[in-house]
Amino acid sequence: MTQQPPQTTSTPNAGDNAGTWDLSIDVADLAGRPGSHRRVESAVQAGAPDPHGPAMQLASGDQADVTVDLESVVEGIYVHGTVDADLVGECSRCLDPVEQVIQARFDELFLYPNKVRRGEEQDAVLLEDDQVDLTPLVRDTLAIEADERPLCREDCPGLCPQCGMRMEDDPDHEHVVIDDRWAALQGLFSEPGTTDGPETEATADATAEPEVER
Ligand SMILES: [Zn+2]
Ligand SMILES: [Zn+2]
Repeated sequence: MTQQPPQTTSTPNAGDNAGTWDLSIDVADLAGRPGSHRRVESAVQAGAPDPHGPAMQLASGDQADVTVDLESVVEGIYVHGTVDADLVGECSRCLDPVEQVIQARFDELFLYPNKVRRGEEQDAVLLEDDQVDLTPLVRDTLAIEADERPLCREDCPGLCPQCGMRMEDDPDHEHVVIDDRWAALQGLFSEPGTTDGPETEATADATAEPEVER
């Protein structure tokens, strides 16, 4: 009698944008019949975006379209296809919304377990229970294509380092730097020795809104 040690159950891809995808395809009709093939068109819906996930993700509820050709070969089932998806994210400089249209190809050979060559066990993707699971393949394909530092446009000027406004809205805006003469005048308003409560506040106001011209 063997006793299995209690296993810790890990939630696969918790919080992952693709966590609920099901792209498993039953290929019992193709297995062991080299030369036979089938095309499958499928779609998966995105869950809630992962705030710690990649910069570009599917919008919640949006779908990715997957078209895949399944070909039975001697060693297993060879799959190749395309994934179409519109990813959304924020410009890495100005935080404006950014879209990225992806149409990417993928392919993989799902090997019959008895066809795996010695030494290749690590990299082999196995065909188990006549099921081809495209989820990791499609997810990785999207992840590779997705921009890591998306930009609304190549020369996006970003945000003003001083006030945070979008430089594009007002490319010439400047921040008034009070020059030495003005600073000296300000010193006159706040007389030394009277720097209790209200006086300090008045000084702060004068600093914030200097009336340059009259
Ligand atoms: Zn931008
Ligand atoms: Zn500014």
